[in-house]
Amino acid sequence: MVHVLPPPEVDSIGLINDVIAERQNGVNAVFFNGIAAEWLARVQAYLDHHGSAALVEKWPAIAADKTKFIGLYKHPAEGSAQGMVLENLRAHELVICPACGEAGRPNTLDHYLPKGVYPQFAIVPQNLFPMCDACQGAKLELTGDAQTPRFFIHPYYDRFSAPEVVSLRIHAPFDTPTFELIPNPNLMDDERTLVGVHIEKLEIISRFATFFSGAYRRVLRLAGEIRSGGQNMEAMLSFFRGNARAISPNSWDCIVYDAVLPNAELMEYLTDGELPTYL
Ligand SMILES: [Zn+2]
Repeated sequence: MVHVLPPPEVDSIGLINDVIAERQNGVNAVFFNGIAAEWLARVQAYLDHHGSAALVEKWPAIAADKTKFIGLYKHPAEGSAQGMVLENLRAHELVICPACGEAGRPNTLDHYLPKGVYPQFAIVPQNLFPMCDACQGAKLELTGDAQTPRFFIHPYYDRFSAPEVVSLRIHAPFDTPTFELIPNPNLMDDERTLVGVHIEKLEIISRFATFFSGAYRRVLRLAGEIRSGGQNMEAMLSFFRGNARAISPNSWDCIVYDAVLPNAELMEYLTDGELPTYL
């Protein structure tokens, strides 16, 4: 769940100026020259407001021309200013999705403010970050509604008062446990609200449930091996947690270890209980 990322170190105002300069001999020169000043101002507003859908305005006047902006993203010319920036954004080394925390290289770029609704941010690097297909399939063009103006955590800008944004609780019976995945109760109220709506709108719980049943079985199997090797349960599981935490405290593996280790009843079960034989 939610891997915070450093914002791209790209001067987006400079980028937009370069993109406009590159259009001077093309069919859209007049269009881009005409909207240049306002486009730059709107990109600056995005940066100032950290892409918040509650604060960044739409631009109805360009609705009929939105394909001109989206085309810059979808079909960048070889060596173009935005083409190189997009290439760099796609050359990341992430091994989990920043939006949900599930393992696997996120292989698409998501527009935090969707390009179909906010075409003026289609090539703004601070509006683009890697995301997994499942998150993207759930997010689509959602941003917020009247009651909740902002549905999603922005991985470049949102920072939380605790590194773990969610908290997993594992409940007995420990051979067939149930779980709850909730926003970390130690977060501040507004942080918890944002995390809660983010989890709901990206449909993370059902995906995590599938992961959890496999991950929990792996923990039981591991516990069996730790016992037969005569090793210390807490020390060994802490080691595996450290490994998962090195990827992110919100990677799904780390969330599971973070739920297992402080759960005294479960640790007792793993150390001395009768483990299921289906392993
Ligand atoms: Zn995801």
